Formats: sequence, C-alpha cells, structure tokens
Amino acid sequence: MKILVINAGSSSLKYQLISMTKENTMAKGVCERIGGQGGHVEGRNCNGGSFAYDIDMPDHTAAFLEVEKALTSGAAKVIDSLTEIVAVGHRVVQGGAIFNSSVLITDDVLSKIEGLSDLAPLHNPAHVQGIKACMMVFGKEVPQVAVFDNAFHSTMPPEAYMFPIPYEYYEKYNIRRYGFHGTSHRFVSDRCAELMGCDIENLKIITCHLGNGCSIAAIRHGKVIDTSMGLTPLDGFIMGTRSGGIDPSAVLFLQEKEGWTPAQTDEVLNKKSGILGISGISNDDRDVKAAELSGDKRAALARKIQRYQIRKYIGSYVAAMDGVDAIVFTGGIGENTFDLRASTCRHLAWLGIKYDEDINKDLQKGKEGEITTEKSFVKVFVIPTNEELVIARDTKEIVEVLVTTVRDDDEL
Ligand code: ADP
Repeated sequence: MKILVINAGSSSLKYQLISMTKENTMAKGVCERIGGQGGHVEGRNCNGGSFAYDIDMPDHTAAFLEVEKALTSGAAKVIDSLTEIVAVGHRVVQGGAIFNSSVLITDDVLSKIEGLSDLAPLHNPAHVQGIKACMMVFGKEVPQVAVFDNAFHSTMPPEAYMFPIPYEYYEKYNIRRYGFHGTSHRFVSDRCAELMGCDIENLKIITCHLGNGCSIAAIRHGKVIDTSMGLTPLDGFIMGTRSGGIDPSAVLFLQEKEGWTPAQTDEVLNKKSGILGISGISNDDRDVKAAELSGDKRAALARKIQRYQIRKYIGSYVAAMDGVDAIVFTGGIGENTFDLRASTCRHLAWLGIKYDEDINKDLQKGKEGEITTEKSFVKVFVIPTNEELVIARDTKEIVEVLVTTVRDDDEL
C-alpha cells in the first residue's frame, strides 16, 4: 500500500510517498512560495534520483500537479500514475478539543478543521486549502485522512490544560493548552518503550522535541499528562525564533511602550525572539554554537538559557509524574547537539543519570540509541523522529477498513 503524506502550509507543500510494506520512503520533496512569484520545487527518490526547478504555482492545486509530475515522471519518478496511491494522510496542526485521534476526512470534518482556524490562523486555513486541492487532483474517491498535531496531547487532565484566567473565556473561546508536535512525541515515546523492551503502560517518559520549534511532554503510562506548548506553539521554553512562555505583563508593557499592534506583537514573539532574539546572530543552533565557541557572549547566553530552561522543564515533569524512567531527545537539535544532551545529563545526575560521553557524541545525524550506561537509574535515548511515518500508519489503519482489496506493492 502506497500512502502520500502531505504537510501543507500557507505557501509551501511538503510531500512524502511511503510504501507501507516495509515502511520505506519512496520519494519526498517540497513546493515552495505557492501563490507568489519565484516558486520552487525540489525533491528526490529512494533510488538517488533528484530534481529542482523554479516554477510559479498560483495555488495549492498547481502545487499538487507539480507533485504528480515529480512522482510520475522525470529524474525522481517512482510510480506510473497517481492511481497507485491508495490514500493521502494530511498533517493538521489544530484539532482543538474536537479531534482526539486521526480521522477520515469528510465534508463535515473539513468544515470542522476550517472552524478551528481561530485557534491556528496560520495553519488550519492552509491545511484546508491543501486538502481541497488534493481532492481536486486525486478525485474524491481517494480516501484522505487528517492526523492532528495535538491529538496525542488530548489525554491531558484539566489541571494541566486549563489557564487560570476567568473560566468564562474557556467556555466562550476554548482557550486552553492544546500542545503540539504530538505525532513526534507519540512516535518517539512508542519507540522508547520498544527499545527498553517494556510496555509503555508501565513507563514514565519525558520526550524532548528540540528543533526550530521545541516542546517537551510528560507521558505517563502511554498518555500525555502535560506538555510545554499551549494554545499555540509559542508557549513553553526558548526556541529558534519564539520566546516560549514569558511573564504576560512584559508583553503588555512592551505593547504600551512600543505601540505594537497584536500582529506586531505576534511577529516579535514568534519570529524575532528566542535564540535569534538573544544571540542576534541566527535561529540555527549550528551558527549560534559556532559563535559561542568563538567567544560571542550573547550566543553563549542564548544557549545557556536553552540548556537551563530544558532541564527546568524536565525537572518539573519528573515532579508532575512522580518520577521518570526515560528521557528522549529528538528533533534537529535533540538528535544532533550532543553538548546540550551532555549538559542535561550532567545536571540531572541527581536523578541517577549516568551517561557515556563517547556514545553521546557518536549519536548524531539520524543515529538512534541509548546514551546512558547500564548503571543509570533513568535511561536517556536519542531517537530520530518520523512524523510522516506516524501519519502514514494512521492513514493506513483508517483506510484498511475502507479499502477491501489492498493493491499489491511494487517494491522499489
Ligand atoms: P523544524 O522544527 O523546522 O523541523 P529541525 O528539527 O530540523 O527544525 O531542527 C532545526 C535545528 O536543528 C536547527 O537549530 C539546527 O541547527 C539543528 N540541526 C539540524 N541538523 C543538525 C545537524 N546535523 N547538526 C547540528 N544541528 C542540527
């Protein structure tokens, strides 16, 4: 069974074609700057074929036609026709409190996703555009599934998801913590249990997804009981360009002093803050680490805040779960930045964490493994995340019920 996984943003569309027989990626790519000038498409397949070209794409339908072209012709061709694709799985950022698991997309589901746009104005309208364009290109008979970023966090109890503001605003606007990166936290926590040879029902796991966006989740017995991102992906701790949680009064103060509109405030907190805002150099950890090593004080401070806030979150989640069995690092930074992992382990030695420096340094660039020693009371893992695979697995599970004759795969 071949499944196409789609992550549609307002001006971009990422795709990945996955063959579910061996769960391997057959092809992947991205269409950028949709709806504007200077559109760009690039991708590659599992046989080493790749392509990149510029083309203007007025809308998501035009982008899907480029994806069709990339999959069925040219240097990275992997299939003869789109009819080989059994189903499409879409990443959807905000499912609100309506969707606590992945669902088959119907007209009703689509209008509910659209109805949640207030809670994710940058994401949900783009997903809806992507889904509608996909329906145009594939036809309505190809099943499409929505996999929500916050669904895995829907098990949080009210004491974790409620904001202590007048209750009426929760009732009126559904303002609460939803959490994001759920597919990633789910994938790495499941994999962690697998690596430990334990049933996840018996484990307390803290998963740290550290990329441009960062979030940490406390997963007790397979269920999220708390997570750092909130109503939006802005909450939590320092990220590439986002501030994470700060005193709300600081925001009001700045709005008053600087005369910022809500949109300008949003721009500063989401795009100009975090590692970039403190270092003044970059949001990319590689650049900031290089600057720190060459003596830049603000770069050093940015990375110090990052290390401090991450271990503070981990500590608070140990308290929230009354203990912890394993900590997992994932995401671009979690998977590669060994000095941050080492620092976290050293500071958490009081938890009985003992790590191996060489193994920790070795685990980079997509390698998976445990960095703690046999004597460590709490295990620490590096697990490359695979959100697309989670989307493809959920899609498969949902469509298998619908598709009576599963077509045989032509393995690549
Ligand atoms: P996103 O949240 O956009 O998916 P990623 O998970 O790709 O982001 O993470 C981006 C961050 O990961 C950047 O700060 C980058 O410096 C870091 N990163 C990615 N790859 C590497 C690498 N090979 N070595 C060191 N850091 C990396």
